[in-house]
Amino acid sequence: MSSECIFCKILSRKLPARIIFDDDRAIAFDDINPQAPVHVLVIPKKHISTTLDLSQEDNVLIGHLFQVANRIAVEKNIAERGFRLIMNTNPEAGQSVYHIHLHLLGGRAMLWPPG
Ligand code: AMP
Repeated sequence: MSSECIFCKILSRKLPARIIFDDDRAIAFDDINPQAPVHVLVIPKKHISTTLDLSQEDNVLIGHLFQVANRIAVEKNIAERGFRLIMNTNPEAGQSVYHIHLHLLGGRAMLWPPG
């Protein structure tokens, strides 16, 4: 837990969010500035600043984030059409919140390469 981190504040309910999933290790909530019809962020309850800070003990946790994202994609009926899972690391990738989060984007055709 980091007192300055906005995602830790969402975790502790000090900041509002539309939370659509919550278990012992992760939550998922709607992105405040959606870039697609479905734009959900899946975050660990453990504060980890960037993917560079992951250690081997986080391997199962990271797998769990993907399992949660898959489940939400199925629930939101975008699994068959396709969706994108993204983690941005550091400024050139566009990371703006330094608590790792898996973007689940779907509900429209995606371009490649990304901008
Ligand atoms: P990134 O740029 O990869 O670090 O992604 C951060 C994401 O967090 C962006 O898509 C923002 O729109 C989203 N975001 C920032 N603040 C909030 C918030 N209070 N509630 C929900 N999503 C947020």
